[in-house]
Amino acid sequence: MSFTNRFGWSISRESLFEDCRRKYYFHYYLSWEGWKKTASPLRQEAFKLKRLVSLPLWRGQLVHYVTAKVLESMRRKGKIPPAKDVASYTAERFQQQLDFSRRKLYLSQPKKRGDRLNIDWLALFEHEYGRELSKISIERTLDESVQGVECLLRSPIIDIISKTDPAHWIIENIDLAEFAQVFDFEGARVFAKTDFIYTGNDGSFNIIDWKTFRRKEGDTEDEKTGKAGTQLGVYGYYAANVLGKPIEKVRLYEVNLLGPGNHIEQIINRENIDTFCAHIRGGISRLSSLLVDRDIDKNLPLPHRHFPKNVSDSCRFCNFFRICLDEKSSLRLE
Ligand code: SF4
Repeated sequence: MSFTNRFGWSISRESLFEDCRRKYYFHYYLSWEGWKKTASPLRQEAFKLKRLVSLPLWRGQLVHYVTAKVLESMRRKGKIPPAKDVASYTAERFQQQLDFSRRKLYLSQPKKRGDRLNIDWLALFEHEYGRELSKISIERTLDESVQGVECLLRSPIIDIISKTDPAHWIIENIDLAEFAQVFDFEGARVFAKTDFIYTGNDGSFNIIDWKTFRRKEGDTEDEKTGKAGTQLGVYGYYAANVLGKPIEKVRLYEVNLLGPGNHIEQIINRENIDTFCAHIRGGISRLSSLLVDRDIDKNLPLPHRHFPKNVSDSCRFCNFFRICLDEKSSLRLE
């Protein structure tokens, strides 16, 4: 089967573009087809580096995965699973994944077999780069992962969900590692990525976004960057324009599983959708400005010199450091 590198837009894609154009180039273009044995060594390396994760990212992925499994279990059995079983399942996955990465099995084993994800597949940044991974940081990541799923089980929203009809639940299918919510916006594919959707007993259409980061007091980063309004608009557009739900019935709940577990309700309105439409047009225009003839159908990048490096202290922690700035590396793109 052959795949096409199709142009798309998502909040995270645009954020990577704004962060460092060269990183964006490595991630979305140089790494493409790097899984093939016939690909150049540089392309293969970019593909490998693209899939490295940091400890906080790993923690988030694991908590999201177990959360999806909890919801699947609730749908099958009609009750919330015991906290101790969920905690031990989380710890078991954690250890299996850590062992997989430590033994660098990501170099020899595929992430997907057929259309299913190998859930124990993990490539930690520190293992690939030979950086120190302290026992304390590993233990803290395990503790936080377990805390995250425990927080889910005692969060008020899980109780609300359990009283709704599971026939109307849409659970993120992590085993397939695919975005279920992809839609077309003026010729570009847009990824909405909803974690969980349920229909309330009052007929409301509820989208849940599980957050797995530690928000500092007074931290309003999303509001400052305007991401929050755009995010609401993405969900609103998807619910109203793609699924045809009445906009006044659509709700977004943010639940921070590394916080107290309370949910923050956001009501989505037409203004959010207008914000999103204006934002995404600008985003697609910026992203496509680095394509040959700005052609999003062909999606061919300009030569890499058009994607400048944004060098800073954080480059040492960038997945692509080796092929970008590491002078000891023989595989570098100047
Ligand atoms: S190492 Fe720095 S300059 Fe290079 S891709 Fe990463 S963030 Fe950009």
